Amino acid sequence: MSKVKKAFFCQHCGYESVKWIGQCPSCNQWNSFVEEIIQKETEKNNGWENYHASNEKTNRTVLLHEIKSSEEKRILTSDEEMNRVLGGGIVPGSIILVAGEPGIGKSTLFLQNGLRLADRKVLYISGEESEQQIKMRADRLLKDVSSPATKNFYLLTETSTQIIFQEIKKLKPDIVIIDSIQTLHTPFIDSSPGSISQIRECAAEFQRFAKETNTPVFLIGHITKEGSIAGPKILEHMVDTVLQFEGDRHYAYRILRTLKNRYGSTSELGIYEMTDSGMRAVTNPSEILITQKEDQLSGIAIAATIEGIRPLLIEIQALVTQSVYGTPQRTVSGFDLRRLQLLLAVLEKRGGFHFGVKDVFINIAGGLKIEDPSIDLAVLCALLSSFEDKPLPHHTCFAGEVGLSGEIRAVNRIDQRIAEAEKLGFEKIIVSKYNLPAGRQSQKGIAKQKFNIEVVTMGQVEELYRYLF
Ligand SMILES: [Zn+2]
Repeated sequence: MSKVKKAFFCQHCGYESVKWIGQCPSCNQWNSFVEEIIQKETEKNNGWENYHASNEKTNRTVLLHEIKSSEEKRILTSDEEMNRVLGGGIVPGSIILVAGEPGIGKSTLFLQNGLRLADRKVLYISGEESEQQIKMRADRLLKDVSSPATKNFYLLTETSTQIIFQEIKKLKPDIVIIDSIQTLHTPFIDSSPGSISQIRECAAEFQRFAKETNTPVFLIGHITKEGSIAGPKILEHMVDTVLQFEGDRHYAYRILRTLKNRYGSTSELGIYEMTDSGMRAVTNPSEILITQKEDQLSGIAIAATIEGIRPLLIEIQALVTQSVYGTPQRTVSGFDLRRLQLLLAVLEKRGGFHFGVKDVFINIAGGLKIEDPSIDLAVLCALLSSFEDKPLPHHTCFAGEVGLSGEIRAVNRIDQRIAEAEKLGFEKIIVSKYNLPAGRQSQKGIAKQKFNIEVVTMGQVEELYRYLF
């Protein structure tokens, strides 16, 4: 009896339905459902186990205290940024999704890291490029690395998971990198590569493989600018770790961000610079992200933020001009638009600044996207500076959140922020008065006792304005 199982999938978010529907109940897209065959008539629908016949491993109940609590032995790459983003190296048996826009450099980064894992057997599976293309790219990346580094690097240009698993069984790699998950197809499902059901099933096969053999697997997946193409998105809950590789194609800097990590902290960040010979890790990002000029311009403020576990000083640029059209414009790059509107409302109400007739532009230098609320204060000061057309004082940076009533609120890990500002040669940092560095109760004591940088504490936006201008 032939029995083919079919289902409808939203091509936007991956929502599954037994019948066709016009509007997706999950993401509200219209006309996004496509029918896909999810299971052909086969005895056993299991890609990895079909080639992996041994079934000796049976699960029994065990006493918790009998389980050896072994510290996970992580695989360290030569790339410090990557190790940190992964929470301290690659966990054996983990499955890691690497999402990013096409052409941003995901392949370069992972090819480069694979090539440099000299003591591990790495299998790089590409469905995107030919062997010749990858060889050319590898030669370019390895200009500065001696050749023995690559002796354990294997390449497979294949898209069928059936053939891939046959090869994996022969080779027994230590690490598998798949570029990309959208090009794979499993013979057990009848829809085309890149469709929702194919992506889901191929990822599931690699997940079983990773868990059974304790081999880490990297799945590279493409997403669009809106970050909403169905493919990789639906995998987020299946995998252990989700890394996002982002950045503007026109800038040299790229950011590798942790969105989910079962084995470490999320919101971790690695910064790379794209060069001719691959991705170069940027170990001291604050230095490149701020341009300290002697004659300071108006509208520029430096924020002391924390990304992941790392303090980061960034430059905020604001431009406030007379609006020429009826509706004033608010344009942001790297900052939340609603947050800007809120700050403008606070300034309007508490300080009497009439931004209602002004166009306002906010830009975070270097193409970064910052979500840390502590940059509020720097954004606010950049706005005021541009509004007044007066530069802010030299060598001064800011760390504080701004509340609706115009109060400057405390932010976490203030000591780290102050220390980073001090390290980079700032002379003054302005923080919330509710944010006295740990353990110090008197304002006078902070700067002299602990830091060589002057720490100025402020309670209200008005007070700050009087202080700065
Ligand atoms: Zn949907």
